Amino acid sequence: MKHLFAFCALSFVLLGSSLALGAEAYHPQIAAHRGASGYIPEHTLPAKAMAYAMGVDYVEQDVVMTKDGKLVVMHDIYLDTTTDVAKKFPGRQRADGRYYVSDFTFDEIRSLRVTERFNPKTGKAVYPGRFPDAPIAYQVPSLEEEFYQVQSLNKSTGGNTSVYVEVKQPDFFMEQGLDILKGVIDTMTKFGYNEKDSKAILQTFDYESLLRARELGWKGELCMLVTASGQSTKNDKERHAWLRTPEGIKEVSRYATIYAPNFNLLAVPTADGSGYTLSNIGELARQNGMKLHSWTLRKDDLPKGFKNFDEVLDVSFKQLKVDGMFSDFPDLVIAYLKENKLR
Ligand code: CA
Repeated sequence: MKHLFAFCALSFVLLGSSLALGAEAYHPQIAAHRGASGYIPEHTLPAKAMAYAMGVDYVEQDVVMTKDGKLVVMHDIYLDTTTDVAKKFPGRQRADGRYYVSDFTFDEIRSLRVTERFNPKTGKAVYPGRFPDAPIAYQVPSLEEEFYQVQSLNKSTGGNTSVYVEVKQPDFFMEQGLDILKGVIDTMTKFGYNEKDSKAILQTFDYESLLRARELGWKGELCMLVTASGQSTKNDKERHAWLRTPEGIKEVSRYATIYAPNFNLLAVPTADGSGYTLSNIGELARQNGMKLHSWTLRKDDLPKGFKNFDEVLDVSFKQLKVDGMFSDFPDLVIAYLKENKLR
């Protein structure tokens, strides 16, 4: 009798777990795009702490390399769109008028003040409704500081937030004699992020870097970013067109665990821009065993073909059912997911 009872209990447990497996609960992961960048200047440590406190799954780091080989967290290879470099270092621009991260040392970059993104030609804010240019000495963080902050917050709060690290334009840095991809992988390895199940993702727009990351021993999650135009420093529009073909997607899946097209490649605007149609590339990525992530949801800069932010959220999570999404406003996305019982 005792055995029979134990058998029944065991069956019940097994039945319960198989039901749970069968249900395949959908819980999309949210990445804070450059931190909580809709509210506070992008890629500052306060922007990352704010995003962390919003309960995101991932905090994003875009990584560039200084003249003296230090990894810092900034979106552009230029310093003149988010700092006061033009005022502090007049004459240090190249012939094209731009101030390059790779022409400045870490100490020089640390002396700059980070502000909300602006157009270097006009000085006007890219997103006028966002954080004003207040006299606050925000600085450019190093990649190590970002990792220390996330890991320290995980300890102090008992949280489990991950990092989502993008190697910016590795081909450009290689031309400057700076091996940024190797530098990023070495640093992530040092912080315990280079394991199959570590709480970290390495992302890139550069297909060659996707392959090379595996050659360099990257064991973790690897994300292929896909865009309509290719990278800005090299003419790879054709490469990115190939990355959206069934053949290209299959080839990517040999290296990448995540496929991450721009949102307008999933919800493609109609010719007159009044609406959109859904593409099948996300489905193809899934058929090849990859997760589907996308970018970037902004309530003050809607994707083409969309009239309001709620519609963007509905399409993302009820139709496309993306596995992960980047947003400048991660709190709004998380609130939506909670309302819809997806979190
Ligand atoms: Ca990025």
